[in-house]
Amino acid sequence: MRNDLKNKFIPVNEPLISEAAKRYAMDCLETGWISSAGSYIEKFERTFADYIGTKHGISVSSGTAALHAALCALGIQPGDEVIVPAFTMMATIFAVLYTGAKPVFVDCDQETFNIDPRQIEAKITRKTKALMAVHLFGHSCDMDTILEIAKRFGLFVIEDAAEAHGGEYKGRKCGAMSDIACFSFYANKIVTTGEGGMILTNSDALAKKLRKIRDLYHSDQRRFIHEDIGYNYRLTNIQAAIGLGQLENVQQSISRKLSMAERYRSQLTTIPGIRTPVTRPEVKNVYWMYVILIEKEKFGISKDELRIRLRDYQIDSRDLFYPPHRQPVLQKYLTLTEIFPNTEYASQNGCYLPSGLAITDDEIDRVCQTIATIRSTLS
Ligand SMILES: *Cc1c(COP(=O)(O)O)cnc(C)c1O
Repeated sequence: MRNDLKNKFIPVNEPLISEAAKRYAMDCLETGWISSAGSYIEKFERTFADYIGTKHGISVSSGTAALHAALCALGIQPGDEVIVPAFTMMATIFAVLYTGAKPVFVDCDQETFNIDPRQIEAKITRKTKALMAVHLFGHSCDMDTILEIAKRFGLFVIEDAAEAHGGEYKGRKCGAMSDIACFSFYANKIVTTGEGGMILTNSDALAKKLRKIRDLYHSDQRRFIHEDIGYNYRLTNIQAAIGLGQLENVQQSISRKLSMAERYRSQLTTIPGIRTPVTRPEVKNVYWMYVILIEKEKFGISKDELRIRLRDYQIDSRDLFYPPHRQPVLQKYLTLTEIFPNTEYASQNGCYLPSGLAITDDEIDRVCQTIATIRSTLS
C-alpha cells in the first residue's frame, strides 16, 4: 500500500452521487424549475411509493418534517401519549414534542437494537394514541408483534424508516406495513437528496391532509384561505431530481451495503470482543450503517478508547444514540426516572464504522486490519 493511501482519512460516510442525479439536477437549473413546483416532484413521489409498495408518496423537506407531519395528520395533540423507542435518533422524539404530546419510552431489544415489543404493553395507557416503529441501522422492527398490539389497543403505527430504504420484513418492505411511514433523504441515507424526506400511506384521506400540512394548509376551494395550521415542509424540484436519479441506482446501493456488511463481518468476527450485527431470519437487513459492539472485558479496551485509537489511524467512527434520560433537552419536558438497560448498554458499547456508499473494499479491509492490530497490541 502506498504511504499516502495508508494514511488517507476514511470518513464515516461519503455519498455517491449518480450521473443521472447530476443530469436531472442540471435540467432543473437550466429550465428554471428550482422551487417546489416542477415535474420531478411528482415523478420522485410516484417512483418512490411504487418502489416501497404504497399508494401515496408525499415528499417533504426532511425526515424530521415527515415525522411531524405524520403525527399532525393523525391528529396527535397535547394530552396524547406516543410510544417511542428509548434507543433512537432524537428526530423521532422531537417530532412527538412538536405536537405537544408526551413521548413514552420503551427499551430496545439487545440484539437488533429496535424497540422491544415485549415491553410495549406495559407502557400503554388510556392516553396512548400511536406507536413509532423505528427500523434502526437497516434492520426491520418485529412488525407482526407491533401490529398485533396496535390493533388490540386501537393505536396508530408510524414507521420511521429513515435508516431502512429497501429493507424487508417477511417479504414486505419497511415503510409499507403501517398507517403512515416516514423516510429521510439526508446525505448519509441509502437514497439521498442532500436534505429531504417522504411520507408514505395507503390512505387517500391521510395523503390529502398531508399535502395540505406540507404546504401551509391552503383550502381546496381557495388558495390563501386556511382551515388549519400548515407548514412549509416542501421539497424542491432540484432535490426531487437528485432523488429520482439516486433511486434509479437503489438496487446497486443496497447490494453495496450488503457486500460491505459481509466484508466487515467475515473479518471482524474472528476478533475477540467484537460483536457484529444480528439479523433475524425473517428480515432483510440493508445495513444502513455497520454497527459493532465492543465487549470491553474480552476486547481489552472500551468503545470510547477504540474510537480514539482508530482516529489516530485516520479512521472515522460514530457513537450510537444517547439514552433519553441522559439527554439535557428532555429533562425539562419529562421526569425520567425509568432506566433502559439495553439502550444504556448499546449506547455505552456500540459505535458504527465507515459505511458510506463511496467506501472501497480496500478501505473496509484497512478498518478491519487496524482494529485487529489495535486488539493484538492489548494482549
Ligand atoms: C435521519 C433520521 C431521521 C431524521 O431525518 P432528517 O432528514 O435528518 O430530518 C429520523 N429518524 C431516524 C431514525 C433517522 O435516522
